[in-house]
Amino acid sequence: ATPAATMIGTSIGATNGVLFTGGDVLERVRDVDTVVFDKTGTLTEGEMTLTDVVALDHTAADGGEREGETRADGAGVVTAESDESATSTDSEADLLYAAASAESGSEHPLATAIVDGATERGIDPVTPERFENVAGKGVRATIDGREILVGNPALLDDAGVPTDAAADARERLESEGKTAMLVAVDGRLVGVVAAADTVKPSAKDAVSRLHERGLTVRMLTGDNERTARAVADELGIPAEHVRAEVLPDEKADAVDAIQSDGARAMMVGDGVNDAPALAAAYVGAAIGSGTDVAIEAADVTLMRDDPDDVLKAVNISDATLRKIK
Ligand code: ADP
Ligand code: MG
Repeated sequence: ATPAATMIGTSIGATNGVLFTGGDVLERVRDVDTVVFDKTGTLTEGEMTLTDVVALDHTAADGGEREGETRADGAGVVTAESDESATSTDSEADLLYAAASAESGSEHPLATAIVDGATERGIDPVTPERFENVAGKGVRATIDGREILVGNPALLDDAGVPTDAAADARERLESEGKTAMLVAVDGRLVGVVAAADTVKPSAKDAVSRLHERGLTVRMLTGDNERTARAVADELGIPAEHVRAEVLPDEKADAVDAIQSDGARAMMVGDGVNDAPALAAAYVGAAIGSGTDVAIEAADVTLMRDDPDDVLKAVNISDATLRKIK
């Protein structure tokens, strides 16, 4: 494109909240054939709300654990069958106290959901004596001298904590599109907490318009397979185009794999974790206020936090270059 065309395209973009970092980017965008969305914060609001607290009952005579009944309102604490001999650790209030205290050291949206949810339920989390964030897995903390783990099964597996007892609860919550997090205290699984995110209002239309345009739409997420599929399903992204349980440092490789057959991918993400993937993609797009790290790694910034602006970027690139070439 001529410098004049580039200037016009760039300025039309800016007016529409689509910031191209340069003329070469403007030219590349029209050749994109695949759009890879990060899930959390990109297709979804990224604001999680605590929805369920399931304390596992370790006192059943057969040694197995039972899951409590969901309260009719569906949003409250789920109470395990009460048992006189249950230790305080088994109560949902203590479960939530331990989980929220451990998460008070983290800034992850899931952590915020747990801390806020606990506070709303009248529980005051304390500052951990020791805290460790395990990227893509969860948190490890010491609370009142107890070792607390909150996170996905991989986090507990790494610590040698069996997770079978939570399988049913986890399956149920995840098939509802919620993110289930396991909670262990001193090496023992004590319960499951769940948080849910909502998809952005425009996300479904954005996906269908990209499909109409002939683009392949994919989703990458660190979230588990079942939750990812429930969300993808809601958005009309086919299951075979979903890659779940991708660790932060694997996202760039996942983009490389997608592009290995010659696909030209626009990776759209919002977080620090997404920066290497944005850099690996044919075009990297940071969405929304995002993080500075994501914006720095990006070729395009979609200022309005709207997934539909991906198509806008493609249209601007296409129209500008076609008209003025
Ligand atoms: P995403 O790619 O969807 O933004 P992350 O890579 O940040 O997700 O996290 C992947 C998974 O790791 C989460 O779905 C959750 O199961 C677990 N996880 C990460 N951080 C936390 C945390 N602070 N507390 C509990 N679980 C966590
Ligand atoms: Mg994200």
